Amino acid sequence: FKVPVAVNEPVNSYEPNSKEVKSLLGKYKEMYDQEPIDVPMYIGGKEVTTSNKRALTSPQEHQKVLGHYNYGDKEHVSQAIEAAMAAKEKWSNLPWEERASIFLKAADLISGPYRDKINAATMLGQSKNVYQTEIDAACETADFFRFNVQYMSEIYSEQPESSPGVWNRLEWRSLEGFVLAITPFNFTAIAANLPSAPAMLGNVVVWKPAESQIYSANVIMEVFKEAGVPDGVINMVTTGGANISDVVFKHKEFAGLHFTGSTGVFRTLWKTIAENIENYKSYPRIVGETGGKDFIMVHPSSKADMVATAIARGAFEFQGQKCSAASRAYIPSNLWEDVKENVIEQVNSFKIGSPEDTTNFITAVINEKAFDSITEYIDYAKESKDAEIIVGGNYDKSEGYFIDPTIIVTTDPKFKTMVEEIFGPVITIYVYDENKFEETLTLLDETSEYALTGSIISQDRYAISTALRKLENSAGNFYINDKPTGAVVGQQPFGGARGSGTNDKAGAKLNLLRWVSARTIKETF
Ligand code: GLU
Repeated sequence: FKVPVAVNEPVNSYEPNSKEVKSLLGKYKEMYDQEPIDVPMYIGGKEVTTSNKRALTSPQEHQKVLGHYNYGDKEHVSQAIEAAMAAKEKWSNLPWEERASIFLKAADLISGPYRDKINAATMLGQSKNVYQTEIDAACETADFFRFNVQYMSEIYSEQPESSPGVWNRLEWRSLEGFVLAITPFNFTAIAANLPSAPAMLGNVVVWKPAESQIYSANVIMEVFKEAGVPDGVINMVTTGGANISDVVFKHKEFAGLHFTGSTGVFRTLWKTIAENIENYKSYPRIVGETGGKDFIMVHPSSKADMVATAIARGAFEFQGQKCSAASRAYIPSNLWEDVKENVIEQVNSFKIGSPEDTTNFITAVINEKAFDSITEYIDYAKESKDAEIIVGGNYDKSEGYFIDPTIIVTTDPKFKTMVEEIFGPVITIYVYDENKFEETLTLLDETSEYALTGSIISQDRYAISTALRKLENSAGNFYINDKPTGAVVGQQPFGGARGSGTNDKAGAKLNLLRWVSARTIKETF
């Protein structure tokens, strides 16, 4: 049984004045001008509202109210679990081809009739520039659906050997219970993938999106509905984390957590699950992608312009709000002056402003809390004798949460901004003695509490090989002569270990295998 071969959704370039850009900006304006919408919760297929409305605003214009969401309470979480469990038997017994069809249709909807809507919602609600939006909301979302369908078909076709008189089979069942998906603001595609990947394999899901992504999450729910995801299979509950944990982790049917977010939150959830372990029917599957302190390591043989571009793109695309964003770089002394000049020039050429102007490269950071935390790091560097800001350093939240792309240079390889995750448009550079490449690799590894992404830039193959070996545990996604961001589904399965997660690789068979529970059947004749 063959499913359509998955191919990556082609990325629109949105050239100024093109048909695509006009259509997208038309949708953007329509959504900007409309009356604020009311985003319901989706529980058992019903649209549920409450009297507790909270505003959804635009990061680039924080006084602009796009809509309101309905803040749920613990009762809503319980109802979502009940609705999920009520949908479970029928959904998991549906032939897998039917489930595959639904998500293939969802992929075609998101990359077709809903493309402008999901992109405009991501630009308005999460302040992604047009290109970052397109690769995320339209393309990566469709890619997740299509590739996961392909991986699922491969999983279901895997069968053990049999022998004369004996027939062995593997029955790929869903988990017994329900799965909780907790998703971040920074990728609309991750928000779509975390509930849909377990659902595809016959699981039922309670989904809690991040508050700052609810505006585009609502479009994803519309797509799920139109694609034919039955009522109760994916339930979206918009409430605080404590309301979710208090109910979900005490429930005996809790069977799995699919999480992307901060390391601190993931550890807390894991501890809570551990405390309740005796209450569950099965050991829950815990899958998480968490923080990062991603690096660019440069060998003295490198070309300065390649290094400068990797820094400028890797650190500042989507204002550095990617778990994969380059946030520390190690540059050899022989290259530093050239790299510095080139990178400052590139960063100064970035236009800053609302994503509505599609030539803006830097847009706003997600919200006030993020703005305050990022700018605190910038101020810390400004006041330190061990650091110097060579470009950027300014910020302004009067209209939107805008922070200039900022490069800090430090003489201390353990400087605060060199080791802590900032999740904003800030990178710290440490210039090392060009004769100390191997020592610097050791230093880099020792200061890698996280291990999500990293790059080695080098024209010397021995150096690349040494870096691959010495940094083998420092990054789950390792790049050679490139920036450390922009993993593509089906091409670079994404995820890391150490403080960065369980490394179950989003958009890969590895991830889907966590959402099945196999029964081995031996029949003798
Ligand atoms: N997959 C994205 C990338 O490779 C990062 C995802 C994340 O930020 O969680 O850039």
